[in-house]
Amino acid sequence: MAKIMIVDDSRILRKILTNTLTEAGHEVIADAGNGKEAIMLLEKVKPDLITLDITMPVMDGLEALPKIKEACPDAKVIMVSAAGQKNKVMEALKSGASDFLQKPFEPEDVVEVIGKFA
Ligand SMILES: [Mg+2]
Repeated sequence: MAKIMIVDDSRILRKILTNTLTEAGHEVIADAGNGKEAIMLLEKVKPDLITLDITMPVMDGLEALPKIKEACPDAKVIMVSAAGQKNKVMEALKSGASDFLQKPFEPEDVVEVIGKFA
């Protein structure tokens, strides 16, 4: 079971992901509302896996991704995308993201994607 950090500007989505992953036996060790907060947290916490929303204020997922990979090279990053973001998802996968989860998703989709890596 993995230690996970959730990065999303939607508080509701952070809560849904936290509940779903906790019920699946994972440990959510931190969450952040944008990329900048996530990078600051990575000085203190070392997650095995990070869910990273693409669209966020301050610093979005695509800008944060290389900085996250630099701070935490071993962490798997799962992008959280919306419909119509295929190009951004492809870019993220080229930049080191391991996989993606497209909104809206069901709990079983989350558990399946995360389960590939944790
Ligand atoms: Mg968002």
